[in-house]
Amino acid sequence: MLKVIIISLLGNPITKSISKIPSIKSLAFRYVGAENIDSFVGKIDEILSSGYKITISFLGEHYSSKDKVEKYKDNLMDIIRKVSNYQGITISVKLTALGLLIDYDYCKNNLGEILSIASQINMRVHIDMEESIYVDNILNMFDTFRKDEKYNNLDITFQSYLYRTSKDIEDRILSFTWDTKPIIRICKGAYKEPFDKVFPNRRLIDENYYNISVKMLDNVDKVYPAFATHDHRLIERIKNYVQYKGISKENFEFQMLFGVRPELQKKVIEQGYNLRLYIPIGSDWYEYFVRRIAEKPSNLLLILYSLIKK
Ligand SMILES: Cc1cc2nc3c(=O)[nH]c(=O)nc-3n(C[C@H](O)[C@H](O)[C@H](O)COP(=O)(O)OP(=O)(O)OC[C@H]3O[C@@H](n4cnc5c(N)ncnc54)[C@H](O)[C@@H]3O)c2cc1C
Repeated sequence: MLKVIIISLLGNPITKSISKIPSIKSLAFRYVGAENIDSFVGKIDEILSSGYKITISFLGEHYSSKDKVEKYKDNLMDIIRKVSNYQGITISVKLTALGLLIDYDYCKNNLGEILSIASQINMRVHIDMEESIYVDNILNMFDTFRKDEKYNNLDITFQSYLYRTSKDIEDRILSFTWDTKPIIRICKGAYKEPFDKVFPNRRLIDENYYNISVKMLDNVDKVYPAFATHDHRLIERIKNYVQYKGISKENFEFQMLFGVRPELQKKVIEQGYNLRLYIPIGSDWYEYFVRRIAEKPSNLLLILYSLIKK
């Protein structure tokens, strides 16, 4: 509930003007890896040598102009070229930044171009999941590409706050025989949603997350699960299940957002688990930043402090 209020409050166009304040920008950059790929490339070696895997997300979403979409796509192409020397880096993309709001087929062509370029260097492309009104189109896009072996470098995200997710995973992912296992990221979900679409409280969202995790771990021959969470209780439950079932650490990974709970990130790595950092880069950071603030309401105090010291 509080999360919904914070997203509504900070997400409105008037409040958005705070993004121009330098102290707010520097607060946002706790969660953003760099303003552009050129200033990020120099940091990659250090992150990889500390044991982390990386997915790079170029910031942008909800574009309704082709100009913005084309720029987003150019930036993705540029990123793919500039990190092509590193094995195992993936990119995470939002389909509303690739033209989904403009036209489904336009978005599909754009995604196809990205997938083709990425596959030339064996890079995987991971679709982020967005608001529930886009879920059908996003899943259809995934299905369409993924059923063509040429696009087996495409992966997808699901959100445990949605009532529909468990069945979606069952019907669209686990009941299918994939030539190359898809990476299936499960997260709790970050958007303001209508009450009839999502579980009403944290306990039910977490329980659904755990049940979905177990379902995926029981099917590691079909999928490669990626547990995207900073919830140490869920992480412990997943680790316990993995140990109980004797599942190899190579068969799944944890994922966390750059800048969120770095001490927990370090601990997971030290325990020998795979952990991929989701690192956003770019200057279109405001909406992403608002969701990060909403996830930890005490972050609002940081905003107030930044506003006072501006
Ligand atoms: C790799 C990755 C990819 C994601 N992709 C998507 C996506 O495609 N679609 C989507 O809807 N959502 C996505 N998310 C966001 C996700 O849905 C949640 O909103 C977010 O991860 C917070 O949930 P949590 O699982 O960490 O649990 P929570 O219960 O929210 O938090 C667990 C703990 O982490 C701390 N914490 C969480 N967030 C923050 C923060 N911002 N700052 C400081 N502390 C924090 C909390 O205080 C708490 O102690 C992604 C998350 C990750 C890690």
